[in-house]
Amino acid sequence: MCRYCFINSVRERVINEIKRYNMVDSSDTIAMGISGGKDSFVLLDIMSEIYDPDKLVAITIIEGITGYNRVEEVEQIKRLTRERGVDHIITSFKEEVGFTLEELVSRAMRMRVNESPCTFCGVIRRRILNITARNIGATKTATAHNLDDEVQTLILNLVKCEWDKLVRNHPKSPKPHEKFVYKIKPLRKVYEWETALYAYYKGFRFQEVECPYIRFRPTLRAKIRDYIYLLESIEPGILLRLLNYYDRVIEEKLLSRMSSVKLPSCIYCGEPTATGRNICKTCELLEKIGLKFKSI
Ligand code: SF4
Ligand code: ZN
Repeated sequence: MCRYCFINSVRERVINEIKRYNMVDSSDTIAMGISGGKDSFVLLDIMSEIYDPDKLVAITIIEGITGYNRVEEVEQIKRLTRERGVDHIITSFKEEVGFTLEELVSRAMRMRVNESPCTFCGVIRRRILNITARNIGATKTATAHNLDDEVQTLILNLVKCEWDKLVRNHPKSPKPHEKFVYKIKPLRKVYEWETALYAYYKGFRFQEVECPYIRFRPTLRAKIRDYIYLLESIEPGILLRLLNYYDRVIEEKLLSRMSSVKLPSCIYCGEPTATGRNICKTCELLEKIGLKFKSI
């Protein structure tokens, strides 16, 4: 494929996925999680081309990691959002929780709490995105998860036998809690190498520095990641077929049974928590290091 056809093929796949699952309609205000990585630039680029930019808001969350997500990266996002006429909100762990990720991690280390930086990072980032989106009246949040991410999550949920998460990750899964802003993933059928190439062809200057905490990534997810790359190299296209199969099976066999499942509320902060829990993961993590979520 030439550069032009490649860009169009990725764009068409995103549009088809959005249409297939009715991910957006004209009344939606969509809050996009834009981190500054390649995938988030692709999300911002395609969404602002196919949807009314007045109804899009980019949200950038600064974790507070030395040398990572620096001011220069945020400047690149600002430039693109300005160019596309999309509002841009910048917030941070420091503003929302009172501490940077680095401060949370060193506190956890001092207190000998055995949780990885990525667990703090992922859990708190998801919470901030949901609350910020809700506060601005967004009806959907869009994240830049790609096909590789989705297949990793699918296999992770399968091997951990987390059936409710497995079903809730389906794009047709109903909203499980009133405080939960419905989440869409328009890039879920686009390979990671394709988002990298797309961003390169479009000339986006995305963040290339690796997070210093990457080596603390949960080992099971990292192993699954390596394994699915091996599978894909032996049998090209297998990830796409796997996700298509998952979509069909969940929709045909399980979705109707899960339609009435609602998530409980956290007894501390009132935000949604996982089935079978009464304290959400954010409050649990912060409690372990002697803190409370600021918005309680
Ligand atoms: Fe956060 Fe871990 Fe990713 Fe770093 S590698 S940005 S700590 S999830
Ligand atoms: Zn809570």
